[in-house]
Amino acid sequence: MRAHARRGASLLATLVLLALAAPRELRAWGSEGHRVVALIAYRQLSPKVRARVDELLSTDDSGLTRDRSMAAESTWADRYRDSDRDRHGPRYTRTWQWHFVDLEIDSPNLISACHGEPAVPPGLPASRGPARDCVVDKIVEFSRELRASSTPTRERLRALQFLVHLVGDLHQPLHSADRHDRGGNALRVVLPGGRASNLHAAWDSRFVADLDRSPRRLAETLAGEITPAQRRRWSRGTPADWARETERIAARIAYGDLPQPDARGRVHLGPAYVAAAIAATRTQLERAGVRLAALLNADL
Ligand SMILES: [Zn+2]
Repeated sequence: MRAHARRGASLLATLVLLALAAPRELRAWGSEGHRVVALIAYRQLSPKVRARVDELLSTDDSGLTRDRSMAAESTWADRYRDSDRDRHGPRYTRTWQWHFVDLEIDSPNLISACHGEPAVPPGLPASRGPARDCVVDKIVEFSRELRASSTPTRERLRALQFLVHLVGDLHQPLHSADRHDRGGNALRVVLPGGRASNLHAAWDSRFVADLDRSPRRLAETLAGEITPAQRRRWSRGTPADWARETERIAARIAYGDLPQPDARGRVHLGPAYVAAAIAATRTQLERAGVRLAALLNADL
């Protein structure tokens, strides 16, 4: 009886621990999407910039990524944020809002979605900047830091790590758009085959995995199909333009043709929806790779 109770108590403790460790809300391409973006970009860096990227990343002593390649470091910002998430520590509370911009699809307004666009206080590195800041402004801030020769090496590393990640995030349609449902996190969906998920998670991981489960192979395929004309066209514009473009894709495709929810409040995604989502994911990964390379080639 006592042994039974003890087992019950330890089971309860395990469940409590699991509940605490489980992410409350995922907001990121899965790590595969980030790796693909970084791998596409890395191929398009000039030899000089590639060497600078490798050199800077080699100074990362955080131990948060598997290795210090640009592909592995592309997930650093999520790992950093999540490293004290369970106790809502400073890494989590300071940086979690930097990964997205909730442009409301019924009235997209970049300034309000970016919390009034707060300036980084003078003398403060962007990596310590205001917690209420959006992905668009963080990309601009970190890009500026990389360009400035006066930025200390430690902060240059941080700027690069955030940039390599956040350019990817900005291109995930549900990181740049919202329908008053926390970027689709609150919308429960059922995928073909019966798997339950939420809309945000489906766009983070499922549609990327549907393209190819190997990031390296997928990056090679996508990099090979980008034309010089696309590369030129996609390299233009600003992070704000890219966010608006991504929001329109979310409005048209991610939220576009959603059927009515079933009696349990779940939206069943059909094969036509999934095919359109996979096609949009493909283009967004390509655009993100091209734009990340364009930024780094200009900044470093
Ligand atoms: Zn992220």
